Amino acid sequence: MTARIIDGNALSSEVRGQLAERAAALIAKGVTPCLAVILVGEDPASAVYVRNKVAACEKAGMRSLKDVYAPDVDPAVVFKRIAELNADPTVHGILVQLPLPKHFDAEAVLEAIAPEKDVDGFHAENVGALMQGNPRFIPCTPYGVMKMLESAKVPLKGAEVVIVGRSNIVGKPMAMLLLAQSCTVTICHSQSKDLAFHTRRADILVAAVGRAKMITGDMIKPGATVIDVGINRIADGPNAGKLCGDVDFETAKEVAGAITPVPGGVGPMTITMLLANTLEAAERTAK
Ligand code: NDP
Repeated sequence: MTARIIDGNALSSEVRGQLAERAAALIAKGVTPCLAVILVGEDPASAVYVRNKVAACEKAGMRSLKDVYAPDVDPAVVFKRIAELNADPTVHGILVQLPLPKHFDAEAVLEAIAPEKDVDGFHAENVGALMQGNPRFIPCTPYGVMKMLESAKVPLKGAEVVIVGRSNIVGKPMAMLLLAQSCTVTICHSQSKDLAFHTRRADILVAAVGRAKMITGDMIKPGATVIDVGINRIADGPNAGKLCGDVDFETAKEVAGAITPVPGGVGPMTITMLLANTLEAAERTAK
């Protein structure tokens, strides 16, 4: 059996087309959706993510602002800029690219963003709202995964879901969203005993770890839906430098019923849902 591919690029371009139409309608009313992105430091992956986010905004007809700071910048400078952006009515979404340099208190930075502009959904107030089942902004990666499951018509009610990874950015919000859809959710992490025991039970398996190809075909239930959030760079061998997921795609696709590839899976959907959140924030101000 070869799994059906859940194509994140195709779904992204469909959703981004819809978002561009909504953005145009809002612009016609005099409100141009605007995302402000703050990048601190010179991490090459972060620089690529920020570039892609800004480019996606512009392609969808939205405005973007980009502030780039040296790795040793005084955090007070960044806090001051966040305060300015919070107060600027023409800015609807603010995101600070993570990770931040070690001399920053990342939590304090995220809390400094006005909750109604926190399009990443990482502010404690927004995390709480998600937990209560009444989200203001859904964190972009789990939001993208939900869209992919919906478009692939994967049944959720009563499904056994196993999420590998418990970060605030992916694993935990993913669990909340699937729980809200009446899945039975298990969250695994680095201290989980016998990971394969859990993953083999999953109707839907979400891998969000950051370890290349750690989920192999023998860890997957036949016919399961496999969502690979991981983005890893292959260290050596003939494919050195290329991207791969947390799932060993070659063996997994022979067992799974449906699977997301890396690249071209969850990654593009994450940026798409960032645009969706920014647009949503702008639409709220226009009501
Ligand atoms: P974190 O490093 O914050 O979390 C990784 C999680 O994996 C932790 O909960 C950790 O457990 C768990 N883990 C580590 N090793 C193991 C193991 N051997 N067995 C089981 N669990 C393990 O990562 P993120 O959640 O931020 O990101 C995860 C991956 O997703 C990365 O590859 C990242 O690049 C990618 N990513 C992709 C996005 C996209 O758009 N596609 C967006 C965001 C992230 P513990 O808590 O015990 O340490």
